[in-house]
Amino acid sequence: MGINDAVHWRTELGGGTTVALVQAGTFRSDAGALLGPVPFSLWRPWAEGELDANRRLRQALNCLLVETPAGRVLIETGIGERLDAKNTEMRGYEGTAIVPALETAGFDPASVDVVAMSHLHFDHAGGLLRPDGTRAFPRARIVAQRQEWEIALGDNGRVAASYDQPELRLVADWGADGWAEGDRELLPGVTVVRTGGHSAGHQAIVVRGTGPGARTLAFFGDLCMRPWSANPKWVTAFDDFPLDSVAVKGELFRRAVEGDWTVVLSHERLSPVGKLTPDRDRFRFNGL
Ligand SMILES: [Zn+2]
Repeated sequence: MGINDAVHWRTELGGGTTVALVQAGTFRSDAGALLGPVPFSLWRPWAEGELDANRRLRQALNCLLVETPAGRVLIETGIGERLDAKNTEMRGYEGTAIVPALETAGFDPASVDVVAMSHLHFDHAGGLLRPDGTRAFPRARIVAQRQEWEIALGDNGRVAASYDQPELRLVADWGADGWAEGDRELLPGVTVVRTGGHSAGHQAIVVRGTGPGARTLAFFGDLCMRPWSANPKWVTAFDDFPLDSVAVKGELFRRAVEGDWTVVLSHERLSPVGKLTPDRDRFRFNGL
């Protein structure tokens, strides 16, 4: 089965590696918490058209399907299909979950070799199971940082609120088989880079093409969720280690500029693919 036009965007990186964007619905997230230390007066102008009655922004659930000669990698799984009616309403979750979205795009979830998640918050790891509790990607190794699993299943009250622990316990053994500790190449050209910052075990994913004209694509997870995230100092109030976020964003974004990397944002709905350029003491995200 080949991927068809139902994907939201697709590119070739060289050497037979392609990346397709599949959006797995949207949810709502408190705007003040997302913008963290940034005053309302600064973000009001561009956010106003998007805010709902509860001052929430609409966040896309961006997933990437990477096809390489060595195998297929899915990056992120969205919220999935197991949220009950009350939480679906509370989260403002709408749209098509990752498995039906992949199927619509002509892609068999059983053909995924690796699922890499930036971290295990409910809006990134929710799609690992089907509604009946079976594995959504039966052949896949699932890769998050070992440290992320440990914190996600721990008993810190603030941290636990961001994870769906009963759901994660159902996949903990599956996850343990694929633990990454630090940076690791998952398949030739597909590498996870441990970042921390947003969560203790947060990781970025970098995909490199090969051959003449080879290009690189990076997914920085929730360190770079919307265009405004291009300012390293604009970190969300959800970030557990904000100073780490500021430092690692500055470093990764500098590498993205130097390498002319294509960057895909984790929660931007309308303009999720672009490039970073330096802008005074920060960066600017320029959508394609
Ligand atoms: Zn998120």
